[in-house]
Amino acid sequence: MDPDADALERSAEAALRPGTLDEFVGQRVVRDQLDLVLKAASARGATADHVLLSGPPGLGKTTLAMIVAHEMGATLRVSSGPAIQHAGDLAAILSSLDEGDVLFLDEIHRLARPAEEMLYLAMEDFRVDVVVGKGAGATSIPLSLPPFTVVGATTRAGLLPAPLRDRFGFTAHLDFYEPHELRAILERSAGKLGLALDGDAAAEISGRSRGTPRIANRLLRRVRDWAQVHGSGRADLAAARQALTVYEVDERGLDRLDRAVLGALCTRFGGGPVGLSTLAVSVGEESETVETVAEPFLVREGLMSRSPRGRVATADAWVHLGLQPPADALA
Ligand code: ADP
Repeated sequence: MDPDADALERSAEAALRPGTLDEFVGQRVVRDQLDLVLKAASARGATADHVLLSGPPGLGKTTLAMIVAHEMGATLRVSSGPAIQHAGDLAAILSSLDEGDVLFLDEIHRLARPAEEMLYLAMEDFRVDVVVGKGAGATSIPLSLPPFTVVGATTRAGLLPAPLRDRFGFTAHLDFYEPHELRAILERSAGKLGLALDGDAAAEISGRSRGTPRIANRLLRRVRDWAQVHGSGRADLAAARQALTVYEVDERGLDRLDRAVLGALCTRFGGGPVGLSTLAVSVGEESETVETVAEPFLVREGLMSRSPRGRVATADAWVHLGLQPPADALA
């Protein structure tokens, strides 16, 4: 996506973000647990425990971080693993925190090792060692920090080193949403957009959103575009179907990347097993993107499975692509 389009998408997305835990749809268990963590901390007049959220992109990790700050009446500070190149970058952020601030660290699994180690200490002891000078004359000056809350988000919890994972008092994994939850999200979003959305159109979009609120909201905006340009302005079933066809979302919600991965798995590798990196190269994507974006959904849909020897297409995958499954395809 070009940078302008990307910025536009982000601001459209921000306008649809729920602002409180009550408005946050689905993920009931996580919501109830987080509610308790925050209420207990408020009752004690303390800052909340550090929170680690994991799960595929677009399921609400950033939204929950914002909600934590909002519910605690705290200021949210935002950064990410890739944005922190050196431990010094993290030291600068940490030493500017005020008491009670919520520091959201997206893609925390991508923090460089020295920054990661600095973060352990800061999370546990609210202390950071600032190194002054270089070489033999360098000295480390301990600086104490006011209590604050880290909300870490990751698409790959398994990659976090145990010492970092252990510093989080509350960890939660976000799962794909059920169609009825996505429908509720779509109805709320349509209300915010001032868009008339028919029930069957909402059902159609929610069934094709890969269990992901971000995708549901994005498709809703595309349906709105279609309805404005070609239809009556109302998001009805016809507008939903036409827009989804234009944007190459198939009837099970697979997008272009999902189909490319599945297609390569079946046609180039005979259904597998094939290693993740080989599969990723064959579709021209980073392994991490295939692993965190396409794969969780394909596995959940029963189209792909993981075996110790690599990724394998199920019989259903062949059928979905309109291909004849080999006799030994996984049922
Ligand atoms: P992540 O950080 O996990 O990639 P985000 O928190 O940015 O995902 O969520 C993407 C978009 O999806 C948000 O803008 C928000 O509008 C919507 N969204 C996510 N989760 C929910 C939810 N539970 N209820 C309503 N909207 C949600």
